[in-house]
Amino acid sequence: TNAYNAGASGVVIYNNVPGAISGTLGNGFTLDIPVTSVTDTVGQQLAATADLVLRLKTDTFRGIATTYNVLAESRRGNPNNVVMVGAHLDSVNAGPGIQDNGSGSAAILEVAEQMAKVKPRNKVRFALWGAEEANLVGSTYYVNNLSADERSRIALYLNFDMIGSPNHVFFIYDGDDSDAEGAGPGPAGSAEIEKTFEAYYDLKHLPFKGTDFSGRSDYGPFIAVGIPSGGLFTGAEGIKTADEVALWGGTAGQQYDPCYHLACDTYDNINLSAYDVNVDAVAFATLRYAMSTKDVNGIKGKGNFPSLNGVPSTPGSANDSGLHDEPVAE
Ligand SMILES: [Zn+2]
Repeated sequence: TNAYNAGASGVVIYNNVPGAISGTLGNGFTLDIPVTSVTDTVGQQLAATADLVLRLKTDTFRGIATTYNVLAESRRGNPNNVVMVGAHLDSVNAGPGIQDNGSGSAAILEVAEQMAKVKPRNKVRFALWGAEEANLVGSTYYVNNLSADERSRIALYLNFDMIGSPNHVFFIYDGDDSDAEGAGPGPAGSAEIEKTFEAYYDLKHLPFKGTDFSGRSDYGPFIAVGIPSGGLFTGAEGIKTADEVALWGGTAGQQYDPCYHLACDTYDNINLSAYDVNVDAVAFATLRYAMSTKDVNGIKGKGNFPSLNGVPSTPGSANDSGLHDEPVAE
């Protein structure tokens, strides 16, 4: 706006640190003026060129776009105690988004297909969200358009966003704020969901770690209205530490996902063995809560699901063969 008011016919913004810049002009930008960005090196060259004549041509779209949430739910199960499982289906414009978030979307799609064999005690509702990357648009719309009645029937929400990072850590959303980092604890019941995922990794004899329950993905709108939530994450732009490499392998000093929000977020950007572990975790938690949400909201379920607070037993016994070995009540 300053440049426009000063009579500029175009604006080049350059980075003040090395590398490319990826900013936005924000929702409120309405001026009819081309704006682009360059690296600090190019910017300094331009700024240092006397009598510079710069031709600027931009090709942009600005307007209202349509996006969709895809929802599917089990025919069976208690409609007054709904278990929701979600992942965002969109990617950023820069890349195909296979890790972020094809990984979460494909996982819940597979679990939904396998759930066709199950008669759930609770209604299970799967959601593939649109426009997460544009600030949680799809999930926010969904939650904000629930009636108070519909909202009160949702027992809990599980979120899966980036669960197969190439330089992974097995992160669980820190629902009980035991790490005392960043945001506080989630709504009552979120701590129990975190314990369910902890129990899964314990059964697999795999290490896990909390990650701040910041509301940065589609569970944000759910916890904002008090719905207990939880989920998994294998890391994005954060840097892996030497301590983490000791536990999970990989490369210290490198991003958990070096292709985060980039064109290289392709199929090759998935750590298939970490992903395999986590797809089973999605199945484990979904099936458990499909049968009983007692630990989260006190509503009695059915099936032979022992408490996870004691000695681990039946569910997902420690072999690694995946979905078909999960307990199926009835
Ligand atoms: Zn994502």
